[in-house]
This record gives sequence, structure tokens and C-alpha cells, in this order.
Amino acid sequence: MQRFSFLSLARNALSHHEGWRRAWRSPPLREAYDVVIVGAGGHGLSTAYHLAKEHGISNVAVIEKGWLGGGNTARNTHTIRANFLRDVSIRFHDVSVKLYEQLSRELNYNILFSQRSMIDLIQSWGKLRDLRRRSLAMALHGPAYDLISVDELRRRIPAMGDLSGVRLPPLAGMAHPQAAMARHDAVAWSYARAADARGVEIHQHTEVTGFLRDARGRITGVETSRGTVRAGQVALATAGNTSHVAAKAGLSLPLVTRNLQAFVSEPVKPIIDVIVNCPDVGLYVMQSDKGELVIGGGTDPIPSYRQGCHVATFEDVVASLVELFPRFKALRMMRQWGGAIEFAYDASPIISKTGVEGLLVSTGWYGGFKSIPVGGLTYAHLIATGTPHPLAEAFGLDRFTGLRFLLEAGTVAQR
Ligand SMILES: Cc1cc2nc3c(=O)[nH]c(=O)nc-3n(C[C@H](O)[C@H](O)[C@H](O)COP(=O)(O)OP(=O)(O)OC[C@H]3O[C@@H](n4cnc5c(N)ncnc54)[C@H](O)[C@@H]3O)c2cc1C
Repeated sequence: MQRFSFLSLARNALSHHEGWRRAWRSPPLREAYDVVIVGAGGHGLSTAYHLAKEHGISNVAVIEKGWLGGGNTARNTHTIRANFLRDVSIRFHDVSVKLYEQLSRELNYNILFSQRSMIDLIQSWGKLRDLRRRSLAMALHGPAYDLISVDELRRRIPAMGDLSGVRLPPLAGMAHPQAAMARHDAVAWSYARAADARGVEIHQHTEVTGFLRDARGRITGVETSRGTVRAGQVALATAGNTSHVAAKAGLSLPLVTRNLQAFVSEPVKPIIDVIVNCPDVGLYVMQSDKGELVIGGGTDPIPSYRQGCHVATFEDVVASLVELFPRFKALRMMRQWGGAIEFAYDASPIISKTGVEGLLVSTGWYGGFKSIPVGGLTYAHLIATGTPHPLAEAFGLDRFTGLRFLLEAGTVAQR
């Protein structure tokens, strides 16, 4: 892999930056691989990287119907956090944050990781109780989630207006210092480059349209828009599309898919240096390095595969934003978009073998940008060894038949 450094930048500047090697190859699609990963989003690429790095399995094809990193990984608002309720979720996401902290160095690629903390603004007694419980659970495992006063809230978020007359005045806040942002494209590109360097093949613009099976019903490969490909194992990492891709193998998963939208304002001077999250009203806002306010809220209330803007949800989010930050009324919105994200019935991820031999799934990532490093690490372990990684033992599909649900609520992403 070509190393990026100050020296290589200077050397390439001398040749007008025309000598850089391609970040990843576009090899011809072969007839067979040990593992086919369907979906070149952050999770598929991170899994491929860890398969090659930790398990020496590099005869791997990552097959992507669009372009790599162009799914939800490109659409997300890049918040990384570990403030969960269940012990396994806290440990899992704490490891992910720690992997993110080292990722630029590990992959030799600047992912613009910015650990700026998240401040939750609490506006109801019920939510305060709920988040205090989360904070006590987290205290057992490491990541901090500390109660702060309204005065402290004001100090950390000076852009807030005078909130004395608002519907739900803030009662307190929670501060989560480990929360961070990272450039989403860079995360996908860095994993793609590092996986490619270890021999993994990435095949873009190749849609998986069906599965090959042997006489016993075991999955032995995939049908694609560019022909059939045999595989020892097929691992799905198809995010919101997982229900209907799995259905092609006769598999029904405990998932629901909904549209989650986000929007950005025109760029302004630095005004918010933390991630502000308002779980009672369904709003979060942060400022990107370019100065734009990145704004999001909850999902649309109904299941769908749409990827656009639902006006009622948009209005809800904007109404909450301008109530808490009246000065943002003057801002113009530049872009808005949505993505089809998938929830497991208990809102925890699924990293699992399935009832169909040879087919595995990693899904339920409704807020799964934060989980890309640890999701890939643990999914690769399952594919390579056939047993769940200790961090992800609780995330198997068997929890839905054994009533071992891991009920988790998102911050604002789930209604
Ligand atoms: C608006 C929005 C905001 C979000 N904000 C956050 C956030 O702040 N923090 C956070 O942690 N998460 C956030 N998320 C969630 C996050 O984006 C996803 O959980 C994460 O990107 C999932 O990664 P992935 O690799 O599983 O999915 P994707 O990046 O969607 O990758 C799946 C890939 O599979 C491909 N694919 C699907 N079907 C096929 C097929 N048949 N054949 C071949 N390829 C196929 C798709 O083209 C896609 O590229 C947000 C999502 C949205 C939509």
C-alpha cells in the first residue's frame, strides 16, 4: 500500500500529483472466492479488512451494486458514541470508539476524527430518569456519561437562545466526552484501500440478484448482474436492503426498514463545537469542518425504502431547532437527503449465522456508522472461525427465538 506522509505529499507535489497510485484495484470478477461479502459500505469493507488482517483470509470479493461507500455510509451524519444501556452494547461500542481513535494511524488515512463530545439536552423528567440509568450502567464499563446542570449546558452550548419561554425548558444535560465525528467517505475509502492492499477484491457496479445452492440447500455462491460467483460463505452487509436480499435465499429476518433523513445549512462561522442531541424533541445538530450545521432527527413514522425528505418529519425537526436556537431562523438549508435504515425488533445489531447454511448476516445498524470498526472486527471473526466474537455473542439471531432480546433505544433515531 502506498504510504501517505508529509514526505510522500512533498515528493508527489514535485510531479504535480500525477504519480499517485490508485487507492484500490478494479480486477476482473473471478468464478470463485472463499468468502463473498455483499455490500461495500463501511461494514462490508471493515469486515473484509479484518478477515485479511486477523485471519489471513484474503481470497475475498466484496460485491457492491453501486459504488463503494455510496449507501448509508455516504448518507450518515457521522456521529460516533458509546452511550448505550445494555452491558453488551456499552462494551461493544466502547471498543468501537477506541478503534476509531486509532483508525487514521492504523489505516494510514486521515479520517478527520474529531472527539468533540456530545451534550444531551434533557427536557422531561422521564428522559432524565432514563438517561441517568444509562449513565450508571455506563459507569460500570468505562465511557463517561455525566449529568450536568443547566448553567453548565449554557456554558457548553452558548448558541442556545433564552429558553425560559420554550415548551419544554431544559432540566439538565448529559455529557458524553468520548463522542466524536469522522469523515464518512474517508472511513469507507480507508478500509477499501487497506483491504485491497491485503488482496481483497472490490467489485463495484455488480448487483447480487440471487443465490446459488447445492442439493442440500446450502448457499454455494451468488448470482450477480455480471454472472455467477461461487463462494465458501456469503456474508450480507447490505444495510436497509437486507430484508429483501435475504428473502432471495428464503430467509425472513426480524427487521423493519425506515427512512432517516438529515440536512445541512449554508456554512457559517464556528458556533457549536459539540454534538448537541435533544432526545425529547427528536433533534440533533453539530457543525461540520466546512461550517455547515448538520441537522437530523428521528425516522419517518412508517416503514419504507424511500431515501428522500418526509416533509412532516422535516418540519418537526426544524420547529425544534429554531425553538432552542432562535438565531438559526435566518439560516438557509443547502441540502437534504434520506437513507433506508434497518432496525431489528429490539433495536440491537444482528451479527449472526442464519438458518440457511453458508449465509451470514450483519444488520440492524440503524445507527451503525459508529460501529463500523467493531462490527467488521466481530463479523470477520464469526466468518473465519464459525463462532461469535466474545464482544458479539449476544447479537445472534437466536436471541429472537430464545426471548433474549437486547432492548436498546437510539438517541433520537428511533420513535
Ligand atoms: C440520514 C442518516 C443519518 C445517519 N446518521 C448516523 C450517525 O450519526 N451515526 C451513526 O452511527 N450512524 C448513522 N446512520 C446510520 C449509518 O449510516 C448506517 O448504519 C451505516 O452506514 C451502515 O453501514 P453499512 O455498511 O451497513 O451500510 P451501507 O453503507 O448502506 O452499505 C450497504 C451496501 O450494500 C449495497 N447493496 C445493497 N443491496 C445489494 C445487492 N443486492 N448487491 C450488491 N450490493 C448491495 C448498497 O449499495 C450499499 O452500498 C445514519 C443513517 C442515515 C440514513
